Amino acid sequence: MNSYDAIVIGAGHNGLVTANYLARAGKRVLVLERRAIPGGQAVTESFGEDWTVDSLHAGGMLRPDIVRDLGLNIPAPAPQAFTAHTDQGVLRIGPTLTDAASIESIRAFSAADATRWPEFVAFMNSCAQMLDAVYAVPMPRELPHVDLRREGLPMAKLALRLRRMGKRDMFRFIRALPMTSLELFEEWFESVALRAALASVAIHGHTLGPMSAGTGYTLMHNWLNRGGLAAPQHAAGTGSIVRALTEALLAARGEIRTGSAVQKVLIERSRAVGVRLASGEEIRAAVVFSGADPRHTLLALAGERELAPEFSWHARNIKMRGAVAKVHFRTDGRHGIAAGTHAVAASLKHMERAYDASKYHEIATAPYLEVSTRGETVSVHFQYAPYKLKSGDWASEGKRLEEIALATLAPLFPALAASVRGSRVLTPMDLEREYGLTEGDVNHGQLAMDQFFFMRPLPNWSDHRTPIAGLVLCGSGVHGGGGISGATGRNAAKQYLGGRVG
Ligand SMILES: Cc1cc2nc3c(=O)[nH]c(=O)nc-3n(C[C@H](O)[C@H](O)[C@H](O)COP(=O)(O)OP(=O)(O)OC[C@H]3O[C@@H](n4cnc5c(N)ncnc54)[C@H](O)[C@@H]3O)c2cc1C
Repeated sequence: MNSYDAIVIGAGHNGLVTANYLARAGKRVLVLERRAIPGGQAVTESFGEDWTVDSLHAGGMLRPDIVRDLGLNIPAPAPQAFTAHTDQGVLRIGPTLTDAASIESIRAFSAADATRWPEFVAFMNSCAQMLDAVYAVPMPRELPHVDLRREGLPMAKLALRLRRMGKRDMFRFIRALPMTSLELFEEWFESVALRAALASVAIHGHTLGPMSAGTGYTLMHNWLNRGGLAAPQHAAGTGSIVRALTEALLAARGEIRTGSAVQKVLIERSRAVGVRLASGEEIRAAVVFSGADPRHTLLALAGERELAPEFSWHARNIKMRGAVAKVHFRTDGRHGIAAGTHAVAASLKHMERAYDASKYHEIATAPYLEVSTRGETVSVHFQYAPYKLKSGDWASEGKRLEEIALATLAPLFPALAASVRGSRVLTPMDLEREYGLTEGDVNHGQLAMDQFFFMRPLPNWSDHRTPIAGLVLCGSGVHGGGGISGATGRNAAKQYLGGRVG
């Protein structure tokens, strides 16, 4: 039987980041991916007939320290303009956010908002930096107890970092975290257009509406991962990140096996000792990292029999509530959509109503959309499309997503419909079946107030450990996760290499 120092389940970008750190530390590492290609949600893939698409994520960037640590060769992504199509008109904010043209665009809606905008951008940048620092530190294991020897110094540094924001921003940051987008923007801006533009970023990827508590936090989170309003795009697709990570891993003598679904984590005397693949093959390792979501990892791969009943109950209740779908159009190139990110976000109320539909397990008929283009491809992020439908099923309802998207976009981009030559819809069911995301949840567990920081994925289990010794979580479902940042992959590896988990 083959044996490794470490097995990593899942070649999503986080799994690959973990594997790279381990391989560079001299460990013999094997990454096992169920799909035929690596990349998870950061994948750029072919839909056939020479049609290559960023199937899930239009853009993203790893944290700079990870790129540096791993010596990755990733071409710099291009910053994007952000255009919001609102009830009041079109608002266009350039990649640098505070250039004169962006401020003039805001001024067309409100002179007062244009004046406050640079202060807001500076505040959001400061919040994002703070969040980045928080995401780099595994949370204390047994709050309210803090292990002073292990956790004291990092916590003290975070407290100091918070203090350095200055008294005013420190309080504004703490206060904004649990706020709704509505409340937050009411305090800053008066125009419907600017509020809607910002709210669309706050709700993007989350099954929350702009009137949900915690969308102050999700705005900061997405701002951090995007570096502002629009995610930067890679000329060769998001897959550039995956390519750089796989090349670096192979160069460090790590191994990747695709088409290798892990069916079970092998556990002996409460310790993970390897995995069994769907093919029946068993592979042993000193430690098993999982980049799959925590619910799948704990309940399906480890198994409830290995967990205490109360822990199993908590794991079953990790909130997975996918409501995101993608619609890709292959066009003849004459779609008439300008480069950049386009948010179709009529108003805050409009987006809240779209969210309401998902609460009742219905597809939003007036959805919030985010549109991006790459060459002939027009990619539409569709929200809200709930995983569980009140009537019908996703086998038949996928076509409706395409129809609703086209109808919503027609008044804004009149040339689009006639330019369409083909399409591909990815429903929440596809996200589960094809991309391995439980309930189609793109974040491996909602980024909600009861599932963040020390409560992600579960209270007091945010330091990558699981109740099974030698089974370590390294995907987005742990503290620091969500977005294409690599933070959880990095943290998991550092925890292990520092002897704190595993
Ligand atoms: C349309 C869209 C929009 C998004 N927007 C946002 C946003 O605005 N903000 C935000 O924070 N995040 C957003 N996300 C989520 C973000 O992309 C994810 O958090 C991130 O990409 C997850 O990376 P990962 O490496 O942790 O996991 P993944 O990329 O999901 O990788 C996990 C890998 O594990 C594999 N796997 C699973 N089970 C097994 C098994 N049993 N055996 C072998 N392999 C297995 C999967 O096939 C997959 O390759 C969005 C995602 C999508 C799709």
